[in-house]
Amino acid sequence: MTLPSEFLDRLRQLVGAANVLSADGDTERYRHEERGLMTSICDAVARPGTADDVAAVVRVCAEAHVPIVAMGGNTGLVGGGVANGGVILSTERLNRVIEVDALNHTMTIEAGCILADLQKTAEDHDCFFPLSLGAEGSCRIGGNISTNAGGVGVLRYGNTRDLILGLEVVLPDGRIWSKLNGLRKDNTGYDLKHLFIGAEGTLGIVTKAVVKLFPRPRAKVTLMAALPTLDYVLILFDRIRAACGDRLAAFEMVPELGIELVTRHIPDTRDPFAERHPWYVLMELTSPRPGDDLRAEVENAMGEAFEAGIVVDAVFADSETQGRALWKLREEIPAAQTREGGSIKHDVSVPVSKTTEFVRLAMEAVCAEMPGLRPCPFGHIGDGNIHFNLTQPPGMDKAAFIARWADFNRIVHDLTKRYSGSISAEHGIGLVKRDELEHYTSPLDIELMRRVKRALDPNNIMNPGKIFTA
Ligand SMILES: Cc1cc2nc3c(=O)[nH]c(=O)nc-3n(C[C@H](O)[C@H](O)[C@H](O)COP(=O)(O)OP(=O)(O)OC[C@H]3O[C@@H](n4cnc5c(N)ncnc54)[C@H](O)[C@@H]3O)c2cc1C
Repeated sequence: MTLPSEFLDRLRQLVGAANVLSADGDTERYRHEERGLMTSICDAVARPGTADDVAAVVRVCAEAHVPIVAMGGNTGLVGGGVANGGVILSTERLNRVIEVDALNHTMTIEAGCILADLQKTAEDHDCFFPLSLGAEGSCRIGGNISTNAGGVGVLRYGNTRDLILGLEVVLPDGRIWSKLNGLRKDNTGYDLKHLFIGAEGTLGIVTKAVVKLFPRPRAKVTLMAALPTLDYVLILFDRIRAACGDRLAAFEMVPELGIELVTRHIPDTRDPFAERHPWYVLMELTSPRPGDDLRAEVENAMGEAFEAGIVVDAVFADSETQGRALWKLREEIPAAQTREGGSIKHDVSVPVSKTTEFVRLAMEAVCAEMPGLRPCPFGHIGDGNIHFNLTQPPGMDKAAFIARWADFNRIVHDLTKRYSGSISAEHGIGLVKRDELEHYTSPLDIELMRRVKRALDPNNIMNPGKIFTA
């Protein structure tokens, strides 16, 4: 679709000429996709600065049946922000914090606020906003809401969905639906906000939100443990949670290959252990009480784990800098994998109790399919979410490896389903997993989703073709 110049002129009248980009060079950075596998086609990028302006842009697009793709930080990993014609609507100018109500423990914000800025704002008010993920320096809260992002704090605080108390959304016909009351209890009919959370921009454009805040952690312990076998990962999780309860805020699994690749490819990283071990766990414990001796508590539990042979070595961070260095070993695994050649990625979840069994069987299955393949399963094992990533065999042609993606999907996702798991734990469906959703989801599920879509967006202008074909 090529949009007529009159249409672009109308957009310029609404949001200002500087905020409607149409030249290829100007739109390039919005058309790029995080993994570099796809490129958007779009006639214009609109950058409205208020919810009213978003509504005005949507009304103009609705009249002309022009598709709109909402864009936050463009860090999504499933092609949800990839446009196939029409307008990309960037939320980057919707970046104001409207109110922090420290007593209500809520923050009202615009959708284009960068996640790391919101964490900082909460901290400035002696509060804590727990959503945290590797892309937090560039992803925007509207994108987090629209993907129902997970991240490293889910174990204690839940997914983005659990952190949202109110939303404002521009509907596909340009009307503004607003429920920003910040209530923790509100049983007045259907809770409509949940339709828009995780909808990947297919039902409307999120313009504002009320998010929950929590007491700020004042004591923190970060440590990495080395384990001799995979099965012990879950046993250690059970022991630490039994000993430390809710103070266990993150429990991330890292395989030996993860440490090897990160220390090989990522500058300023080093293996904190004297020798390599098959598996590692990165843990973080926090407490809002400054006097809490978390370290003594976890050292006690770790001592018992040592005696039982569950843990063979451990390093504690003695400073924020050391803590960040340990986290870097976990966060940089995807980047290190990319530098090692082709990587095929799966973002699956199974019940926490089945995680290690799943990882073992999935590793056996994929290695049987391709000798020399290097599985690199890592991630949020404490909430059942495993990034079951595969690194190509050394020396294999990258394109030939990536061409096998669908075969590995079938192996990993079939096994995931055997455990009643999910083929998309936290990244969403977008374009990349659309066929997989169709394959693994019941026809009734898809039918209900299509009905919701048609009810709210009968002309299919909001991010068409994402999640499923309408
Ligand atoms: C290094 C790295 C680490 C990551 N780690 C994690 C992780 O631990 N957990 C996790 O869940 N994800 C992770 N991600 C994926 C990504 O960061 C998240 O999906 C994030 O929530 C996307 O936010 P964004 O602002 O970049 O959204 P975008 O990529 O801009 O958009 C994502 C989707 O949301 C839609 N959208 C965006 N804004 C709006 C809006 N205002 N209204 C309606 N729809 C909208 C888009 O159309 C698209 O479909 C990671 C990505 C990277 C690059």
